[in-house]
Amino acid sequence: MGKPGRDLHLGPPGEERVADATLEPLCGSLPHSHITLTLALRAARGCPRRDHRGAVGRQDSAGRAAGTALHTSRPIPVVASGREMVVLSVPAEVTVILLDIEGTTTPIAFVKDILFPYIKENVKEYLQTHWEEEECQQDVSLLRKQAEEDSHLDGAVAIPAGCGNGADDLHQMIQAVVDNVCWQMSLDRKTTALKQLQGHMWRAAFAAGRLKGEFFEDVVPAVRKWREAGMKVFIYSSGSVEAQKLLFGYSTEGDILELVDGHFDTKIGHKVESDSYRKIAHSIGCSTNNILFLTDVTLEASAAEEADVHVAVVVRPGNAGLTDDEKTYYSLITSFSELYLPSST
Ligand SMILES: [Mg+2]
Repeated sequence: MGKPGRDLHLGPPGEERVADATLEPLCGSLPHSHITLTLALRAARGCPRRDHRGAVGRQDSAGRAAGTALHTSRPIPVVASGREMVVLSVPAEVTVILLDIEGTTTPIAFVKDILFPYIKENVKEYLQTHWEEEECQQDVSLLRKQAEEDSHLDGAVAIPAGCGNGADDLHQMIQAVVDNVCWQMSLDRKTTALKQLQGHMWRAAFAAGRLKGEFFEDVVPAVRKWREAGMKVFIYSSGSVEAQKLLFGYSTEGDILELVDGHFDTKIGHKVESDSYRKIAHSIGCSTNNILFLTDVTLEASAAEEADVHVAVVVRPGNAGLTDDEKTYYSLITSFSELYLPSST
């Protein structure tokens, strides 16, 4: 990365040097606007169908090309008013931005340290409060059925059917459900029964203001600007669509559901499978190369690329580290403000 006052050598040895540039990223707040550097997102590995090497060029403040393309696919570090900035140009064919949540829009810690612990800490109280409700009874029935299927597993916790009306009986049954839920969560299981109860608990907690969705500070301003520039914004997360809507509907920024054009979860397919991205494009009614997918997980990025989707890997505090090869191969951003939409000029 360049240091203030130093020429920036952005490409392989012998390629063009760029210096003294100031940027106008889509969501940045840089004070001057002389030259904008842009970088095309890289296309699929080993596939020359698009601008694989990522044409990089200087542009003037109106976005007109003003320099010779460099042959690199790396984001460009640029010294601007003493700050080192990076911008990544979104190809003109992109009309849809598809966002992962965990590690991309939202700290992994929010999910790991807040959402899931909330279940363990509150499941007993939730069951005691909602026990008589039909929905809660359905959740318990499903968990009991799952427990029967799990009975051969080490440490499995059975949930007895109610056989009496006494307070002790109820207490024991609730405790068995609590123990079962905690056991399943300790194994990071994703059974429908567990997910259903978790979903209902989170819904109650978000609606009551006990939980609020968290987003990195650059996310909401960027999404607003993308939409103003005519982009559509969709979510693709392994969290259920219902949970996604809670996160956006009850966030620290208020109800921001209106910023999202639609939601996808693993019902459309797993995030590490290319076909999922083809199905998403089909569902949106666009081509896969009209989509830019932002994720922190390179396996997901790779699957999306395979389907001809543009990708950028999002590096956030608390995310798993990337290998040197991954850092070299993928276009990386650390903030949504680093994405530059040519159409916004
Ligand atoms: Mg993620």
